[in-house]
Parts: sequence; C-alpha cells; structure tokens
Amino acid sequence: MSISDNVARRMAAGSWIRRMFEEGAALKKQHGEENVFDLSIGNPVMEPPAEFYRELRHFVETAKPGRHRYMENAGYAETRAAVAAQLTCETGITFTMNDIVMTCGAAGGLNVVLKTILNPGEEVIIFAPYFAEFDNYIDNHGGITKVLPTDDQFIPRLDILESAITNKTKAIIVNSPNNPTGVVYRKDFIGKLAELLQKKEALFRKQIFLISDEAYRKIIYDGLDYPPVFHYYHNSVVVSSHSKDLALPGERIGYIAVHPECTQHDELLNGLIFSNRILGFVNAPALMQHLVRNLQHVTVSVADYQRKRDFLYSNLVKMGYSLLKPQGAFYMFPKSPIADDIAFVQELRQWKVLVVPGQGFGCPGYFRISYCVADRTLEGSLAGFKKAAQKFGLC
Ligand code: PLP
Repeated sequence: MSISDNVARRMAAGSWIRRMFEEGAALKKQHGEENVFDLSIGNPVMEPPAEFYRELRHFVETAKPGRHRYMENAGYAETRAAVAAQLTCETGITFTMNDIVMTCGAAGGLNVVLKTILNPGEEVIIFAPYFAEFDNYIDNHGGITKVLPTDDQFIPRLDILESAITNKTKAIIVNSPNNPTGVVYRKDFIGKLAELLQKKEALFRKQIFLISDEAYRKIIYDGLDYPPVFHYYHNSVVVSSHSKDLALPGERIGYIAVHPECTQHDELLNGLIFSNRILGFVNAPALMQHLVRNLQHVTVSVADYQRKRDFLYSNLVKMGYSLLKPQGAFYMFPKSPIADDIAFVQELRQWKVLVVPGQGFGCPGYFRISYCVADRTLEGSLAGFKKAAQKFGLC
C-alpha cells in the first residue's frame, strides 16, 4: 500500500460528515438540487455580511505595494492588535498582539496548538459528542485521545473527568457553543472545570492546558451570555475562526489567543508561531487578514439562525422527536428513534433528507442536523422527518 497504515485506517473509519456530504452531491445530481434536503455539513449558505464586501472593495481601490508578500509567521501586527482589542472588549482582560497568532481557520489553529504542546504519548481529553476531527488532529501530533462522556444535557461529567486526569494529561479540549449539540456551557460549569484543572495541576505539578474551541462563539441565541474561559483559568488557549461568524469557511482565516498570564507565555507563543510555519501554513492568508482587521465587531445575522432553529426545533418536537433546544451554533442533536443511528440516517436518506449519524461524533443513538441551510431546504426536509417519525412510532 502506498499510503500509511494510519492514514488508511483513519480514512476507512472516515468522516461521516464528508461521506454524507458526498452522498448528497450524488443524490442532487440524480434528483435535482431542489429535491434533496442536505442537512449534513456546517457549510453556511448565508453570504458574508455587507461590511466584508465593503472592506474588499476598499482593499482593491486603495492599491498599496507589498500586501501579498510573506509576513511574520504570527500574522500582521495590525490584525493581531485588532483581534486583541476585540478580546479585551469582550473579556475585560487586556490582550495585546503578543497574545495572538493568526491561523488558517480553527482547524489550522488547533493543529498548531497541538503540535506545539504535545510530546508523543501525552493525553488530550475530549467529551462525547465531539467534533470528529479533534481525534485526527490529536493523532497528527502524536497525542492520545481520551474520550469522556457528557450528562443528559451534554455537559461534560466533571466527576468522571476528576479521575480521568493523570500525569499524562496535557490538555482538555472544550467546544462551546458545541458542534454537534448546540449547547453553550454556563459560568458555573466553566468555573468548576477551572477549579478541577487547577487542583490537578497542583497535584501533578505540571501545566494542563484548557483549549477552548470557540469557532461558534458569536452565534448564541436567546440573549444568553458567553462566559469566557479566560476569566477562570490562566492556562487557557482559545482557538477561533471567521468561518462561521463571518461566513467565510472557504477563506481559511482564524486565530489563537493565549491568556496573557499563561505560564511560560512567551515560550508558548514562540512555539505556536514556529509551528504555524513548519506545519506549512507559514502564515494565515494575507488578503483575509487585511479584510477581517476591521470586522472584529461584525457577525452574520444571528437572528436569522435563531429563526431557523425555532422553525426546525418546534416542528421536530411536534413530530415526537426528543432533543435539546440548541443555545448556539447551527446544529441540533436529536435522539434517533431507533438504537441504530446509521439505520435511521439511511431511512431519512430514502426521503432525500441527509443528516449525520451520532457515531460520527462518538455518540451512537443520536443524529446531527446542520441547519445553516436555505429556508426552503428546512421546509422541504419536514416531510421526510415526518415519514420517518411515523414509521418508528413517534407520532
Ligand atoms: N471546530 C469546530 C467545533 C467546528 O465545527 C469546525 C468546523 O466546522 C472547526 C473547528 C473548523 O473550523 P474552521 O473552518 O475555522 O477551520
């Protein structure tokens, strides 16, 4: 075989999301785009906000030399300063450009962080259901993934975490608002998590990083507030992105922010900048760094996503599906009406509704819906959800 055993094995285990996305493309070719209701991937149909195009026009109209050259591997100073100013405003903690590294999306950022901190065999703890790529990213850098359960509200079980942290634990990854559940972690949970990590750091006399994946931080509903991990834990590293809040997933722009008081802060920052370079990213895309600099306060219409959530949630509940009402991001994670979530997803596929089995997120017995799609796709999917609900006796 020409490819490594590990890559072959991981490809075979496969990304369910990509698999469903590809199935969707094939179905659309066969039946026509308008007859397939693809709720499989988090690829927003929403266009970037008008302010993005304003910045783009301004960029083109103000020709200045040197704007497409290599730069510092951390990114443009002005862009990092703009991200730092936004974080200062959101958290009340003073960030500077020296706390920020611009990255190729959150995916690039997570790989840079893991590359920088992991020794071979060190453990990274994640919580099921989780964004499936976490496990691949940890493996990329020689780490071992430890998956722990959440409770019936999809909140990580701290009692189980308490006994799972060992002297091999290097980091914990949390993701709020969560993909796939839409749950937003509350203050008291973050506070207790931070306390536990501090206790374990003292016990094992080592640094344990809290990596907070905040790709969806600005997409939160019902006026809920967002408790920053930075308020609770110094050894925290936030990875974020403009893929979702500015609807720019194809442009690969995001950032890493390190707590200004993180232990050995400068060593970590230098390591992150080095890893950004040697992983081959070199730097985040220059054009996007120029554009997002003045867009740190801008977000796509969250009200629009909330309306889509309300529409789908209320219809699914009426049909008898059991699910938590998402508080953020643009996913729902209902219980599969039958234990075999793959069989259920196949049933929905017959009605040309595409969703992803919970197994793809380490959580069999559920399925994930991505509702960042056009209203007519959501409306069109209802008939299939209804047929499946009837077949399995929900209504
Ligand atoms: N983290 C989570 C939880 C995600 O859902 C995604 C993408 O869907 C990413 C990271 C990667 O995002 P990006 O496009 O910024 O690399």
